[in-house]
Amino acid sequence: NPPVITLDGPGGAGKGTISTLLAEELGWQFLDSGALYRLTALAAMNHGVELSQESAVAVIAEHLDVRFEKSEQGTRVILENDNVTEAIREERVGRNASVVAAHNRVRDALLKRQRAFATLPGLIADGRDMGTVVFPEAPLKIFLTASAEERARRRVSQLSEGGFDADYDQVFADIVERDERDRNRATAPLKPADDAIELDTTELSIPAVVEYILALASE
Ligand code: C5P
Repeated sequence: NPPVITLDGPGGAGKGTISTLLAEELGWQFLDSGALYRLTALAAMNHGVELSQESAVAVIAEHLDVRFEKSEQGTRVILENDNVTEAIREERVGRNASVVAAHNRVRDALLKRQRAFATLPGLIADGRDMGTVVFPEAPLKIFLTASAEERARRRVSQLSEGGFDADYDQVFADIVERDERDRNRATAPLKPADDAIELDTTELSIPAVVEYILALASE
């Protein structure tokens, strides 16, 4: 089995940036599982499917027509031949992603697609349930956290770098609401795996976290 490192935690804890750097450093594949939930939400919105309709959204998830194309400027995300790289980063898509992610049948539909990313020489898997559900056998599991205030600050700067308007109070409220939904859902709630290493990144720099995880990986 290809080696897998899982990085789970709430939004804005730094998983995306850190996973990307780890994948580059190790030359491994990268799975942004949140993107699959965002894509499912966006496809449902585009097709006029009510997000609360579990079976209809599950059909969308099963038939998701998506390509991840590597380019100079990073990975381009193509949904049904549309470039949605930026659209899936919008706050409302993230919010809707956490609504569709609460449906059991949607999670089931995405399971195989996520496991298919585990190829040689290895995989960095970023999400909420990578260590608990999708890759329970992974030898190294990291659970990243940070205070809600710090995560909101990071999200605001990410959004404004991407050219989106971002109001701190709104983003903070969204983060708290999304955390609640992710932690309290019946299926695959956000929580560290029993064998995960928890890391609070509130006061840590990105390079420090990357270096720490690389050190754990080479043990
Ligand atoms: O990480 P990101 O903000 O892109 O994820 C969007 C939403 O997708 C999360 O709030 C969560 O509800 C859901 N998600 C999930 N399981 C994952 C990744 C994301 O439920 N492995």
